Amino acid sequence: MYYESEGIVLKKIKINDTDVFLTLFSKKLGKIQVFAKGANNPKNSLNKGCHPFVYGDFSLRGDKTYSLSNVEIKDNFYNFREDLKKLSYASYFVDIVNHNLNEDENNYELFKLTIESLTILSKTKGYEEKLKLYFELMTLKALGYEPLVTECALCGKKEVFKKFSVADGGVVCSECASKNNGSIELHPKLIQLMQFILKSNIYEYMKKEINSLFIDKMDIFINSYTDYYLATGKLKSKKFLKIYE
Ligand SMILES: [Zn+2]
Repeated sequence: MYYESEGIVLKKIKINDTDVFLTLFSKKLGKIQVFAKGANNPKNSLNKGCHPFVYGDFSLRGDKTYSLSNVEIKDNFYNFREDLKKLSYASYFVDIVNHNLNEDENNYELFKLTIESLTILSKTKGYEEKLKLYFELMTLKALGYEPLVTECALCGKKEVFKKFSVADGGVVCSECASKNNGSIELHPKLIQLMQFILKSNIYEYMKKEINSLFIDKMDIFINSYTDYYLATGKLKSKKFLKIYE
């Protein structure tokens, strides 16, 4: 079979002096492993398309195992390689995606989020932490772990929420919180910020001015939430981000 699909390289492994294996997140086939014959050689026509973060149109052959026959690059996000902070965030984004998608699993929402986030990361400066919050919350949403922030996760009641239960996946009302000691205090403004993020597209979110103190507080909370549901604490790329916090 022959396929053409937009895709983004999540990971590259050199298998010998000449050939490489790519983990490709493709729009049509989901996360797949792709063999790229000769791509390790700088003179090979596939070489330029076989690097982490390369976004482009990939031509593939095969059924269960795919081999790469051509790449038309749309963006190689080259500036990540010249800016260690951007590189660290980009690595963290693709790492989360790679670790939480199964082979052949397709997820268009997550695909779009990944491309848009890397594009904004590459074109802006100083908004990395803000972008990370959106990326993490929307990744949780795309993978089915969206926190419930509009009604109590235990009884469905609505009120001005001040408590959140990570294990129950959302806000909890004062009555449920008094019976459940697993909930933590969360400022109502942080809950409102999550409500805003979950209903906004990435451009609306990036335009909104958010106090950096809020971003820091939100980051601490989202870290524990993503670690609980996506095991982000285990990711090596996550440890690099600590330098910037
Ligand atoms: Zn309740």
